[in-house]
Amino acid sequence: MVVELISVGTEILMGNIVNTNAAYLSEKCVQLGLSVYHEVTVGDNRQRLLDVIKTAAGRADILILGGGLGPTKDDLTKETLAEAFHKKLVTDEHTKERIQQYFKKKGNTSLIPENNWKQAEVIEGCQVLDNDNGTAPGLIVENDHGIKAILLPGPPNEMIPMFEKQVMPYLNKLCEYRIYSSMIKVCNIGESAVEMLLMDLIDAQSNPTIATYAKTGEVHIRISARTESKKEAESLMKPVITKIMRKLSGHIYTMDEKVTLEQCVVNLLKKYNLTLAAAESLTGGLFSARIVNVPGASEVLKGSFVTYTNKTKRKLLGVKKTTLVKHTAVSKETAEEMAKGVASELNADVAVSMTGIAGPDGGTEEQPVGLVYIACLAKGKVTVKKYQFQGERQKIRENAVVAALDLVRKCVINRYA
Ligand code: ATP
Ligand code: MG
Repeated sequence: MVVELISVGTEILMGNIVNTNAAYLSEKCVQLGLSVYHEVTVGDNRQRLLDVIKTAAGRADILILGGGLGPTKDDLTKETLAEAFHKKLVTDEHTKERIQQYFKKKGNTSLIPENNWKQAEVIEGCQVLDNDNGTAPGLIVENDHGIKAILLPGPPNEMIPMFEKQVMPYLNKLCEYRIYSSMIKVCNIGESAVEMLLMDLIDAQSNPTIATYAKTGEVHIRISARTESKKEAESLMKPVITKIMRKLSGHIYTMDEKVTLEQCVVNLLKKYNLTLAAAESLTGGLFSARIVNVPGASEVLKGSFVTYTNKTKRKLLGVKKTTLVKHTAVSKETAEEMAKGVASELNADVAVSMTGIAGPDGGTEEQPVGLVYIACLAKGKVTVKKYQFQGERQKIRENAVVAALDLVRKCVINRYA
């Protein structure tokens, strides 16, 4: 079953609003086992919308149109779809009543704007989708050739509940197969390296399929099977997942779609009852901000120092002057002393430090932009790693944070598990 998404709105075309509805709807359709081959955005223009609908109806089974169901003159999705499907508009008494109730709840029935009644008009023979969060109803209508059109309001707070409550069950009934998927999240390895390792599996894929998504410092691998039942999907996916796990073992931090890298680190620290402290130079607090993203981070994070200058590194962390002179601030030795310093200052079980050259200036031949040292102290032992990141300043800093999170994760597992 092929779906075509049609977003209606000049605001989207002009870049005034980001088309989050299309991203949401694509994802949901794919999960439902529907194929999305085209996604079109068109302005509030009758003729162009008519053309788009006709083209879509020629190559898809289901058209999902979003936006343009409002009460104003530029809202013309319903009228145009009716024209394309050769149908009339009729007044829906149920919707009229619902609009009245909607305004009553807001306390101003006497002031229902005249043009709001336009929203009680629906396409003849359609299925009306009630809007719990606004006045415009959604509609499902079929043309003489069995092509279905689903019309949804533009505001996400109206569209999403309507889709989940009323459209998903409808689409579910139309689909013979469903898509079931699993997620494997890896960090500190590039997407091309992951693809190289999984090349033979990716080349051989059909059902399940393997898709990789690159994130900063991370790669997410989605394994999806198209089957009639969950059980069947699980048995198809299991051998593929086992093979991927074998190939990427050390890099995998979670197989839970909802767990982030910082969440994984916080969970591990909680599991072993450990506290954490951080000393940040080039990351300037980004590492701590990631940890604080996790609700309940206060149970593990004691605090962190942003120590940007040499003087601050000496003053707050006790990094020795001789270390800074002999090895410089971006060195294995400084990173190690930073981690030890913050651990003792804050009396934490685990401490991590980050020091490096974020650029664009400040690089030399021996110490190029992107050079980063990260140290992690756990169970009294310090591990220091040297990294050479590529890219711009922000990318280098974000990569350093991911590497630091991963180093903490590995040190805790190695020393406490
Ligand atoms: P209204 O009754 O508010 O006029 P509508 O169904 O006519 O609703 P639009 O006029 O197209 O929808 O859009 C109304 C608002 O909904 C937009 O200003 C925007 O904030 C949001 N919106 C519309 N389409 C999208 C989209 N594709 N992605 C995200 N937000 C959207
Ligand atoms: Mg509108």
